[in-house]
Order: sequence, then C-alpha cells, then structure tokens
Amino acid sequence: MKKRIAVVGGGYSGLVLAYFLEKAGYTVTVFEQEERAGGHCYTVFHKKEFCELGVVLGTSEALMKFLRQLGVKAEYKYFHRNFLGPDGEKLAQINPHEIAGFQEQLKRLPKILAPYQAALNAQGWENVPDALTQSFESWCIENKLQTLIRVYAPHLVAFGFGKSSEIPAIYALKYLDLLTLSSMIEARKLIAFTNGATEIITKLAQKLEDLRLNTPVTGIAPAEYHRVTIETPVGNEEFDAAVITVPLNRQVIKFPDHASLMESYQRKHYNVLAYVARENYRITSYFSHNFDKDGQLMLLFSSKPDKPGPLLTAYAAGDLPIKELKALIDADMKQAGYKAERLFAYKQWQTFPHVTGTEIKNGFYDQVNTRQGQDGIYFSGSLTCFPTLDKLTQYLNDFANRYFSPDQL
Ligand SMILES: Cc1cc2nc3c(=O)[nH]c(=O)nc-3n(C[C@H](O)[C@H](O)[C@H](O)COP(=O)(O)OP(=O)(O)OC[C@H]3O[C@@H](n4cnc5c(N)ncnc54)[C@H](O)[C@@H]3O)c2cc1C
Repeated sequence: MKKRIAVVGGGYSGLVLAYFLEKAGYTVTVFEQEERAGGHCYTVFHKKEFCELGVVLGTSEALMKFLRQLGVKAEYKYFHRNFLGPDGEKLAQINPHEIAGFQEQLKRLPKILAPYQAALNAQGWENVPDALTQSFESWCIENKLQTLIRVYAPHLVAFGFGKSSEIPAIYALKYLDLLTLSSMIEARKLIAFTNGATEIITKLAQKLEDLRLNTPVTGIAPAEYHRVTIETPVGNEEFDAAVITVPLNRQVIKFPDHASLMESYQRKHYNVLAYVARENYRITSYFSHNFDKDGQLMLLFSSKPDKPGPLLTAYAAGDLPIKELKALIDADMKQAGYKAERLFAYKQWQTFPHVTGTEIKNGFYDQVNTRQGQDGIYFSGSLTCFPTLDKLTQYLNDFANRYFSPDQL
C-alpha cells in the first residue's frame, strides 16, 4: 500500500510539497486551518483590478519554469523603485559620495563570501559558520561593508524579514544572494503574476488529491507501529509521516523533542493595507525614515508595476489595532502626497519563522536536520528554508527527493 503523508499547512510550502510528493507516488493529505488555502499568497480583487495582500513577485528563472509547468500566467516586468522622504520628496538609494565606496565593497564581496559557500549554497540551513550568526549589521561592519547595509536594509525591513541590526547575517545573505542584490541595484525585470499570486494556489489545488480546508491541526501524536495521528476538530487520522510547514503551538506536538524545537521559532507582526486611490499610480516607494517605527508606512506600491492603477498597497510593522494603524498610515500617505479614497482590504500577518543568532550558533538547525524523520515527523517549508517562492520551490523539490524518493515508498 502507498505511504500516507500528512502535510500541515496549506500555504505555498505545503501545497508545493504535496505536489512533489504526489508526483513521487505518495498519498498526501494537506491540512489547512483557514477556509482558503495559500497563506501569504493572497490576491484581492476590486472591479477589474487586483492587488496582493501577500506575495507580489519572484526573481528566478527556475521559479518561472515551475509556474509554467503549473499553467500559471507570469511575466517579467519592471518594478520601478524609488526612495521617498516624509513629504514625498525623492531621495537617492545611496548618496553620490558613497558610490565609489560601494563599488569597491561589491568587488570585495565574493572573496569575503568565499569561505561561506557551503552554508550559502546549501538547501535550507546547514553548517552555518559562527561568523554568520551575528547580526547582519555587525557582520557588515566587521567586513567594512557599511554601504551594503544601506542597500540591503530596505528590502529586509520592508518585506518583514527584520532589521539589519537584529537579523542574523546568514538569513540576510541567503535571501540577498548576488542575483537578488543585483536585481535591487540595476533596474531588472522581476516576475509578476498576471492573474495574481492566488492563481498559483488555484492551479496547485486543482492538481492535488486531498486538500482539507477549514481543518486546523490541533494535535500531532504518536500512533501504533511508528505511525502518526493527526488530530483535527473533524476527527483523528493516522499517517505514516507528518511534514510540518508552519510554527505550531508547543501543546499541539506530542513529541517532546520536536515540541521543544518548535518553541524557538519567533515571528513578528506585519500589516498590509490595500487602498482604492483617487488617482492612478505606478510606484514602488520605500520610506526609509519609518523603518524603525511600528505602525508607520514603510513601503507603498501600486498594483500594476507597468501601468498606472487605482489600487495602492501599504506595508507597516507592529501589533496595532487596525483603527489606530489605519489612522497612522492615512496620515503618512497624505503627507507624502498620495490621495487615498478608502481602505478596501487589509491583513495582519505574522512574518517568517526565524530563530536568534545565538540559537543558530548553538546548533538549532543542526538539531532540526538530525531529527528529520524521527518518529515520522519532519519540519519543512518556511521552517527550514528562507521563505521566498524562489528558494522554497527549489528547496521543497530537493526535500521531497531527499526524504521521500519513490524508492522509499
Ligand atoms: C507581506 C508579505 C509579502 C511577501 N512577498 C513575497 C514576495 O513578493 N515574493 C516571495 O517570494 N515571498 C514573499 N513573501 C514571503 C512568503 O511568505 C513566502 O514566499 C511564502 O508564501 C511562504 O509560504 P508558506 O507556505 O511557507 O507559509 P504561509 O504562507 O504562512 O502558509 C502557512 C499556512 O499554514 C496554515 N496553518 C497555520 N497553522 C495551521 C494549523 N495548525 N493547521 C493547519 N494549517 C495551519 C496557515 O493558515 C497558512 O495557510 C512575503 C511575505 C509577506 C508577509
């Protein structure tokens, strides 16, 4: 009989993993707690327009190939980026006097990164050198790469990946590999989803055998013959293995080793507000002066990177009631000269599950890797890989081949 695998979490990670596992011949059930699958892939529509409350873009040719394989429409488009001050005045990404220094830093970068290639090229987190467990900022200072912090910081903070002074260097460097970095400096075309990121989820869901919506996993417990019981409000079911793609409450996992690992994951609050504007805009604007402030406008972008449109999306960090948050964002937008008519959708998210530099130094990911498959429990997706669609797609394919190849059936 085919092995039955439970996948916990029906976001991009869970669905893509289920897709690869089914292709390898496994019988897979995906459990999603919401009425809607997709997690951070979440498109909302307004008349003929749409905007993304979560995932907006991709970068790699490998992702494009995967999207084509699924039948998802995607195109390479320019995302015109700029940096604005509080009154909407244009600022330089780096000051003219810093340019020569930055070029020199970029030249030195490959040599500085050379000793870390094993960790940087690994799928997921493996053998992280101690030097990369300090904050990204202190690593840059140690290597005299100060301008690099200024170029990276907006992309780390505005997308909820963390502040340079807090985020361990390994996370920043994995995300901002040289391809991604160059796409931020040059005006390079990036992947936009023609019908919205939700189409990725729809196409995946159409291909999967058993996706359960509105079915939160409330318990994962040992069963007889080394099997695993998945508990949900609908009832209990046994599987040969369970792959967890989201942070779960300690009480949910009734395997002490895995439960204690799960406790280390941290997440931060992150908010996305979608507005209908009184004018059409075509912008992707960073408000760097707000990067340290909760509830303030950090990034504002229009829904169509190549054509002016009436939908504007605002990003802000922090755990604030929506009424308060909206008042702050409204004021920031007004001051910068944007004419919002009304808020039409918003989402309060949690950012990516990460651990502290000290935990990484103390071998957190080595423990996770050692425990993969112990008692039939696996950690995957955003728990073990930097969570962009580009990185996750490659990682999940390798993960499926490594732990669930057809000959292990
Ligand atoms: C605002 C924002 C914008 C982003 N933009 C981009 C972008 O442009 N490009 C990019 O590549 N990445 C982007 N990301 C990162 C993005 O989150 C990842 O690329 C990817 O969507 C993560 O998918 P995931 O499945 O790992 O996690 P999630 O999307 O968090 O999905 C987890 C799923 O698990 C479900 N779940 C949770 N608990 C349970 C439970 N107990 N039982 C059952 N189900 C459960 C949740 O409901 C959710 O559906 C963005 C993130 C944010 C916050």
